[in-house]
Amino acid sequence: MADLTLTGVCKSFGKLEVIRNVDLQIEDGEFVVFVGPSGCGKSTLLRCISGLEDITGGTLTIGGERMNDVPAAKRGVAMVFQSYALYPHLRVRENMGFGLKVRKVAKPEIERRVDEAARTLKLDSLLDRFPRELSGGQRQRVAIGRAIVGNPEVFLFDEPLSNLDAELRVHMRAEISGLHKRLGNTMIYVTHDQIEAMTLADKIVVLRDGMVEQIGSPRDLYYRPVNTFVAQFIGSPK
Ligand code: ADP
Ligand code: MG
Repeated sequence: MADLTLTGVCKSFGKLEVIRNVDLQIEDGEFVVFVGPSGCGKSTLLRCISGLEDITGGTLTIGGERMNDVPAAKRGVAMVFQSYALYPHLRVRENMGFGLKVRKVAKPEIERRVDEAARTLKLDSLLDRFPRELSGGQRQRVAIGRAIVGNPEVFLFDEPLSNLDAELRVHMRAEISGLHKRLGNTMIYVTHDQIEAMTLADKIVVLRDGMVEQIGSPRDLYYRPVNTFVAQFIGSPK
């Protein structure tokens, strides 16, 4: 089970309070989307959940376990970045297996998991290529593949499609949605694209200045925004 609970979570960088008292309950298997204006703290909140940043207040639990002081590698989460962050000198299969190799997983097991992830993401024919030989969409698929091979309980996506052109974005959105249906993992997805949020989310969290402005289903936010800020952000008629 990988439900998440954030209770009074705060994050400051020196005197700058970036995340302010966030309470949030995420169910196992839920697809949750964080939206909000640039600079409101979406990436920071994701990095706090992943363990790339320490929280400066409050409590974070994943699967019922307190994670405040648990290192990133032991949280059962995997993060996919906007910039792909692939190693240019490694082939696709080595990029995908890299994290497992670091964790000293046996070679045949790495191969098995990479092959399985490659089938899931239709990367079979690309395993021996280098990142520079791939299109943007293929690179992003490799980045997702690298996250999948670790069997994470929770996937974190930070604007994974914003470097892709419009057509490919629509295609990859469907792929991510399909992946969620197949794997059933908990997924947290940051975007500034309203359509992405409305189509992917079970639950949307609207952030503003490091605080939660509203949490609800896409329908709730569209038909019952708590204020004009949410309405404007979601594009509802209020
Ligand atoms: P978003 O992803 O919503 O655009 P971020 O989480 O990247 O927003 O940033 C939120 C705020 O935190 C911004 O004001 C940003 O400048 C600040 N911030 C983010 N990371 C750091 C850091 N490592 N040190 C200092 N300030 C940071
Ligand atoms: Mg960001």
